Amino acid sequence: MGERMRVLTVLGTRPEIIKLAPVVRQLSSLPESFQSIVCATGQHGELAKLALPAFGMAPDYNLRPTRRSGDLAALTAATLSGLDDVLADCSPDLVLVQGDTTSALCGALAASYRGLRIGHVEAGLRTGNPAAPFPEEINRSLIGRLAHLHFAPTEVARACLLVEGVDGETVYVTGNTGIDTLFEVLSKLDERPPPGLSATRCAALAGHPLVLITCHRRESLGGTLRAICRGIRRAAEAHPEARFIWPLHPNPAVGEAANELLGRLPGVDLLAPLPYASFVWLMARATVIVTDSGGVQEEAPALGKPVLVLRQQTERQEGVEAGTARLIGTEAGNIAFEIGRLLDDAGVRQAMALRHNPYGDGHAAQRIVEILAAHWPWPGSARREPVGIPGRAT
Ligand code: UDP
Repeated sequence: MGERMRVLTVLGTRPEIIKLAPVVRQLSSLPESFQSIVCATGQHGELAKLALPAFGMAPDYNLRPTRRSGDLAALTAATLSGLDDVLADCSPDLVLVQGDTTSALCGALAASYRGLRIGHVEAGLRTGNPAAPFPEEINRSLIGRLAHLHFAPTEVARACLLVEGVDGETVYVTGNTGIDTLFEVLSKLDERPPPGLSATRCAALAGHPLVLITCHRRESLGGTLRAICRGIRRAAEAHPEARFIWPLHPNPAVGEAANELLGRLPGVDLLAPLPYASFVWLMARATVIVTDSGGVQEEAPALGKPVLVLRQQTERQEGVEAGTARLIGTEAGNIAFEIGRLLDDAGVRQAMALRHNPYGDGHAAQRIVEILAAHWPWPGSARREPVGIPGRAT
């Protein structure tokens, strides 16, 4: 048997855990070909604690960057240095990062400083505007310069990489691994409320239109977020028959604005972040989804749910072009108008509620792992010393 590939998967935020879980599972299911090692960077402390066990993930390394809230430079410095120690310790053949977070950028940068190969899952998403989403557009563009294998979710993402001069031989269209997770979790859900949602809360939704909201982009914090809250408030006041549910991101700035402007409004429920299965349960029941999240923009079309995107630009154009997603910006009057239109007009709703999967077919992780196996071994890979991972057999 030839030497197996040692893959270090770096993750730190909720979306990375959701989207890398199927890849880690595939790698672990082939122990004769891969040694899978996972490092959690601690970027989303609270959300990661909720998400990691839900996907049966117990990272081999856990970093705990200390930082002032919201300080990107301090987070980047601490994560980069922590990851460098991990690379020294486990000496991987490939570092796998996903998407556009600070954790992903630091994983790619730390690997490239050590001359290691980098695989980028969800490569090629671009708005072309470094300020939105911030700092995600910067992060993913930089990772695109560093990675050796680019796993683009769609043809559009592949085209963005080629325009930037990335070698087409290194770009593979795989679908988005987030859709793998969505299908897997959906297949296990039934009518009963999943953990994280009380039976009383779910019963109170019966017979009412449901508007499901998430919003947390860094560039929206402050006045823009307050305008978004005012828009939702107007929609809720005009539609007392509807129920509005917003699981709040733990960033205190989100909770403060939402609680101040929506906290005591009848029909509006502000919740703590939900476990993924509970959030999917709600998405599957939603009449309208209102979000600035990247992942939710991918999940809604797969569920046939109209999604109103609280942004001026999106890197997920496929949903907009297919008509399932609409960019509605962040101005209060327009937000209230667009939510109201979807609640009031079944025709508009149906025209948007087309179930289609521009972002994946549920087999992206398998494709990624097959592509990795096909590239292995790469030149110069056969001579490294085996290194013990704490608590793991090598
Ligand atoms: N999500 C979740 N619980 C919640 C809200 C969202 O599990 O209470 C999931 C959602 O289904 C999606 C992901 O979290 O898969 C999106 O994460 P986020 O919006 O933080 O990041 P983005 O997708 O914008 O990078």
